[in-house]
Amino acid sequence: MMRKYLEQSRIQDFSSLDYAQRRYEVEKYRNIELLRLRKAKSKNYKQQKKNYNKTIDYIHLTFDERKKIVFEIAKKISKSVNLRLFAECIDKIHFDPNRAVKSIDEQAFEQLVTRFESYLKIYSKIANSKQYGLLIHDNNQTVAKRHTELMKKFHKGGTLWTHISNIIETPLFVDSQLTSMVQMADLCGYALRRYVENNETDLFDLVFERGDRKNGKCVGIRHFSDANCQCKICQAH
Ligand SMILES: [Zn+2]
Repeated sequence: MMRKYLEQSRIQDFSSLDYAQRRYEVEKYRNIELLRLRKAKSKNYKQQKKNYNKTIDYIHLTFDERKKIVFEIAKKISKSVNLRLFAECIDKIHFDPNRAVKSIDEQAFEQLVTRFESYLKIYSKIANSKQYGLLIHDNNQTVAKRHTELMKKFHKGGTLWTHISNIIETPLFVDSQLTSMVQMADLCGYALRRYVENNETDLFDLVFERGDRKNGKCVGIRHFSDANCQCKICQAH
């Protein structure tokens, strides 16, 4: 949604067409392009087909229209005071696989589980009754197996920092295309990534509002990076 589609820029007066015409023109352009790649036996054929499939639902919208939707959702997220965002942004340059016992993915998962569990414990005290949480994951078969096993391990022996008593079950895995909450989480991930990698702040500033905070500090989101990093995440952490 947040990329420019080359073919849209090549269709004359694209923005003045109606949705059906836009869709027709883009599909026509794409079919010609795929045919050309297939005839040339190009190794890009498969990848291009995949890229086209990923964007097929949005081709009737201009780049500005798509961007507007994403920002509207980000604004909704930023104003939803009951939302708490937990995230771990690991800079691979600063992650030393020889010193780390865990993979990047496992470290990130353990951090998130720990912070979510701590949050549920605090929330239970405030609510004066035990509060439970559940993890819902975007489905990915490799990750599903590993994270289910990790979660079982955390249930038995805790994470490095806490025992687990408020998060129930192993994660549920869903098809993100059908699950709007996972898509919202995806949007938050995208905003964080664009900030730490490209220093883009517009989306980031909106979703960062929802980072879980304790005594004024944003404890829910961490940037695993240079110890002297001056980014907004590190400053607020
Ligand atoms: Zn930082």
